[in-house]
Amino acid sequence: MTKANSDYGVYLHVPFCRQRCDYCAFVTYIDRDHDRAAYVDGVIRELREQQRPATSVFFGGGTPSMLDAHHVARILSVIDRSDDAEVTLELNPEDAHPTYLRDIREAGVTRLSVGIQSTASHVLRALGRVHRADGARALSQMIDAIGFVSWSMDLIVGTVGESDRDLMESIETVLDHGAAPPHLSAYLLTPERATALGKDRRRHPDEETLADRYLLLSEALEARGYGCYEISNFAKPGHECRHNLLYWNQGDYLGVGPAAHGHHHGRRSWRIANLDTWLHHVALEISTEAGFELVDAAAAHLERAALALRTREGVPAQMLPNARELDAFVSLRGDRVVLTPRGRLMADEIARRLEITA
Ligand code: SF4
Repeated sequence: MTKANSDYGVYLHVPFCRQRCDYCAFVTYIDRDHDRAAYVDGVIRELREQQRPATSVFFGGGTPSMLDAHHVARILSVIDRSDDAEVTLELNPEDAHPTYLRDIREAGVTRLSVGIQSTASHVLRALGRVHRADGARALSQMIDAIGFVSWSMDLIVGTVGESDRDLMESIETVLDHGAAPPHLSAYLLTPERATALGKDRRRHPDEETLADRYLLLSEALEARGYGCYEISNFAKPGHECRHNLLYWNQGDYLGVGPAAHGHHHGRRSWRIANLDTWLHHVALEISTEAGFELVDAAAAHLERAALALRTREGVPAQMLPNARELDAFVSLRGDRVVLTPRGRLMADEIARRLEITA
């Protein structure tokens, strides 16, 4: 993990979707397909700010797979990258066509992150997702046959109406076959206030169910050889996401596209979120930075520890002197304290107890 500190990332926020999922609070637009070419032009202008060769590039969103393969190729053609750079693109299942996957791979994409969320159709409906539930396994087989070595699938845990059995079936469908993804992200459903799901209390998961589901999932994944390297992220050895590691190690990255965040030597900045305003600014070559903050050394140190606590690296034992009181939630590994599966559910509370040592 320490290696990632010398890494440098590029994050691209792609603000287009076909339909807004009921739980989603990301900056994205469902009626702006016609602006994709102008968006790509804008991104290419912002990429002039790149400071050094990227060791990871991440197309996130939004729905990056709504970009055509030639858009992805144009963007990647101007990003200076190290020979071993990881280039991830988030893919919605409905965009997974062999020609598209082949073309983006040829353009330089090395890794896919696929938003499956569940393989139960009533769960997908409850989340307001548009794709079908039955294609996860065939999709992995397609990705594998096209030659991708590393890809991830996402599951959402805790949807009201999802049973333990539904969750286990999702895990079995996604992972129990010869071309399973070597990485899996699992997110606890969080009702964001401004979303359709957030406004409907009947669709909010209760804490106890969330905790039980997370423990069930952690156990099932670890039994299949997927190590939990961060609370929501599980991988076979060697398939951890380099771009994620960069964030958790407080590395530097350039954020491009509306609402994208960047970080450079303790200076965090974010772009204009409104697509029209952003397009207007990039067209006139005016800065799209909407704000910034400087993180002082003490705050950075504390944040680094809180992030490390969320990972399997844990924190030096002296940072958590009262660890003994947290018996079920932390364990000692050498001179470091790491969270147990139950502790991962309380990471924020435990992070508040961290004490900064010299
Ligand atoms: S596809 Fe992703 S970004 Fe788009 S609305 Fe759904 S959750 Fe949000």
